[in-house]
Amino acid sequence: MTDLQDVVDSVYHDLADRIGEGKLADYIPELATIDPKQFGIALVTTDGTVHAAGDAETSFSIQSISKVFTLTLALGKIGDGLWKRVGREPSGNAFNSIVQLEQEKGKPRNPFINAGAIAVADVVLAGHLPKEAIGEIVQFIRHLADDESIAIDHNVARSETQTGYRNVALANFMRAFGNLNHPVEHVLGVYFHHCAIAMSCRQLAHAGLYLASAGRNPLSGGSVVSSSRARRINALMLMCGHYDGSGDFAYRVGLPGKSGVGGGILAIAPGKASIAVWSPGLNENGNSLLGSAALELLAQRTGWSVFGQ
Ligand code: GLU
Repeated sequence: MTDLQDVVDSVYHDLADRIGEGKLADYIPELATIDPKQFGIALVTTDGTVHAAGDAETSFSIQSISKVFTLTLALGKIGDGLWKRVGREPSGNAFNSIVQLEQEKGKPRNPFINAGAIAVADVVLAGHLPKEAIGEIVQFIRHLADDESIAIDHNVARSETQTGYRNVALANFMRAFGNLNHPVEHVLGVYFHHCAIAMSCRQLAHAGLYLASAGRNPLSGGSVVSSSRARRINALMLMCGHYDGSGDFAYRVGLPGKSGVGGGILAIAPGKASIAVWSPGLNENGNSLLGSAALELLAQRTGWSVFGQ
């Protein structure tokens, strides 16, 4: 049997010389101030055992990884009704493409590109004030991670609120097509704040565990979603979780994953483990360069893949 701590240590060790490679996401000014020389891995098995290496306890901006959790909440609220407003296809486009949204009449391709996540934020906002919806999302993630210390980095939220012009454009397009029910500022307030949630690799791997455990969170003990919903969220992560690099990630890693421009990636080995990696430098598709390399090595060394041994 493979010793998972040895695998995690060997992956960290083999990539340690490359720490600092890649480009920071500087379009959100606050993210450009991060020290690029950081790299963490945390793997939590379905029985709750943690294997970690490097900066696994350092908090970072989870950015688009938060979209997995808001999708889960939105599906809990309106179920399959969500798919009238958001598609389930890979976008084949940049995460913030406006052209596609215009062509497809305000219905985003999937819940993980920015437009799709903004529509999901609109669903989570229904019946709430923005700060209540933000509170519900933070509380949900704290519950999943079994950790009350998880919080929003308000400097990141402010930075994006001041500079998120493309997201303002996407939201206005959707509102014009009738695909947002709340004022654009309210929906974006929810979206920018959930993207600005800060978590460590260990917290994130804990929070993702329900997707590796047929919808149950072994830490909090309860059922989060049905097993079929967990499978479907995993399917969406596999097809759409890495922007326009999703095909390459599926080919190289073979596991459902969701990346964020803060340099984090959450990957799920169904029935086995939830894995979070983080290194701020990004590759040309906006995915963590070292994080993707780490997951590729980890998948090779464990033999984990949704496509077979
Ligand atoms: N908050 C970021 C944005 O809207 C999320 C991007 C990402 O992580 O993909 O640009």
